[in-house]
Amino acid sequence: AQTSYAFIGLGHLGGHLAASLVRNGFSVTVFDRDPAAVERLVALGATAAKSPAEAAARAGNVITCLPSPQVSEAVLAGPEGLLEGLPSGGSWIEMSTNGRDEIVRLAALASAKGVETLECPVTGGVHLAAGGKITALVGGDAALYGRHRSAIEAMCARSFLMGPIGSAAVIKVITNMLAFIHLVAAGEALMLAKKGGLDLAQSYHAISASSGNSFVHETESQLILNGSYDIGFTMDLALKDLGFALGMGEDFGVPLDLASHVNAIFAQGKDTYGGGAWSTMIVKLLEDAVGT
Ligand code: NAD
Repeated sequence: AQTSYAFIGLGHLGGHLAASLVRNGFSVTVFDRDPAAVERLVALGATAAKSPAEAAARAGNVITCLPSPQVSEAVLAGPEGLLEGLPSGGSWIEMSTNGRDEIVRLAALASAKGVETLECPVTGGVHLAAGGKITALVGGDAALYGRHRSAIEAMCARSFLMGPIGSAAVIKVITNMLAFIHLVAAGEALMLAKKGGLDLAQSYHAISASSGNSFVHETESQLILNGSYDIGFTMDLALKDLGFALGMGEDFGVPLDLASHVNAIFAQGKDTYGGGAWSTMIVKLLEDAVGT
């Protein structure tokens, strides 16, 4: 088992994943362009590096959790990037959500430098990540997965090896497409309950016990009802992932009517509340439209 990892990208999700590694006794060297994010991990026992290259050289294996494929590419292959520090034979574990073509292309860049890639996007949200209970969707070589399995299991309660590089991106984008459709559906349901004069807490419990229940309803409806919307996942990230879903629909020749409609609603959400607003605010569009 590997015991030493560099972790780059300590945001809403990556901060929790890196903390789980530290908590489970792994030696973790961190880098983020946000010094406050680095400080939080150093306080837990991680060591700070000055660049992705330095972190990678120190640890020999790297995990990333970054906001877009463009940023992942810069951190991987840009100046002072991971490929400048990783030894040949080192590993890159990419936990950001990418499209299939994007991760296949990035893995090829790494492979040209003798670095093996495991894609490991996760699903379940920051609240599950905080408790080490998130689910990992893995794509890549089975032996490489085996080598890093103890680290993955330190961060994630379950992991599914889906197939070669790119296959985890496909299933991850599918799960998010479902989650965004479910979120809009849960929001419409809650607004009907509200306008129908029902007790909303009781409606939440009734829906949770019903055939209309979903993971999204269970985990997000209360954040909508209590007005915090605090899901730890932004509109920008939702639009990124819906873009991957719609691209897959085109590539695979599958019409995605619901996802297209939900994508347009999220575009309106971004216009109204900004790309940094929580994705759950999408329901506020409808709340504002129907009034209290
Ligand atoms: P985030 O924006 O909160 O975190 C990104 C981190 O990367 C930030 O700390 C930022 O400072 C850092 N960063 C950005 N550019 C950098 C650079 N050039 N060098 C070093 N650090 C840089 O995003 P997040 O919510 O943590 O999401 C990260 C990835 O995980 C995304 O691909 C997202 O789709 C995916 N994801 C997020 C969640 C979630 O619930 N938040 C769930 C599943 C998957």
